[in-house]
Amino acid sequence: MSPTSKEIAAIVLDCQDHGESDQIVTFFCEGIGRMMGIAKGAKRSQKRFVNKLELFSSLRLRYTESRRSNLVFIVEAELVDSFLRLRQNTSLYMAATVIRELTLSATRDLEGDEGFFALLQWGLRTMDGQRLHASRDVKYHKRPPLNGCSCALPGAAPKISRPPLVGVPGRRPLVPHFRSEGHSSLPVQLSVMNILALFQIKFFEQIGYRPNLDSCLRCHQPFSVAQEYGFDSRGGGIVCGRCQKEQGQSSVMPLSRGTIKILASAQDQPLHRLHCLQLSGSGLREALSLLTHYGHHLLQREICSLKPFSDLH
Ligand SMILES: [Zn+2]
Repeated sequence: MSPTSKEIAAIVLDCQDHGESDQIVTFFCEGIGRMMGIAKGAKRSQKRFVNKLELFSSLRLRYTESRRSNLVFIVEAELVDSFLRLRQNTSLYMAATVIRELTLSATRDLEGDEGFFALLQWGLRTMDGQRLHASRDVKYHKRPPLNGCSCALPGAAPKISRPPLVGVPGRRPLVPHFRSEGHSSLPVQLSVMNILALFQIKFFEQIGYRPNLDSCLRCHQPFSVAQEYGFDSRGGGIVCGRCQKEQGQSSVMPLSRGTIKILASAQDQPLHRLHCLQLSGSGLREALSLLTHYGHHLLQREICSLKPFSDLH
């Protein structure tokens, strides 16, 4: 090994051709966060990079740093897990793309990890564990576009602040409906959506905006099963029915007590037990809807890849 090279665990979030033979790759790396690297000769190399710089691949990466920029030189990559199912099944691919887009939107190069890598790995690994009747995935003739909008590209991360709440136009989901053979008893569509909801509740905490589900934002009374609640995206938490009546309900989304309890439980669960929590039916729909609005509010942009999953009516 070169004395100046370093090794790190990394997940591929983006890969773009650069010139005739190189590729620019965006990784999320354990310990150091998002990082961009150039893989010289990657388009020609049959040894060093073939089938490794694919989206969502988990790698052991060897790289050297540049003195002039944050762009590192990728020396070698060892495939740890290809998460192949995520690229072979349309619904899993679409869901993994949500995780990818959220991560690219909320992180900047070399900002650090602080548990984000583990969350990213949990999301992709749990989705990849959804076992499918692959032969039945015939509704789609081609893979959905990688970048549904240009703002999903790396480097487009906005500074996080608190803009006004903006609604999301409705659209029917384009997610196939297959049965799961894996650890979940839910149909794949619901199971994947459940993972997306659980990922997001942890994701917001990871970026420093943990939703307050423990007490009313306005009167500070602890959550009670005897009260009705809504979710205020601007305030980042629940508002009890009494405060909504007294102070108005603008921008407060209805949220059932059962959903609040599951989401609050998810906030406190370690990652290795998170998959045990299951939202379903209207609870899952309202959870995804509020998480989508909250993310839109925080990130100041729409997460394009979430639309098929969140606009359920
Ligand atoms: Zn209150």
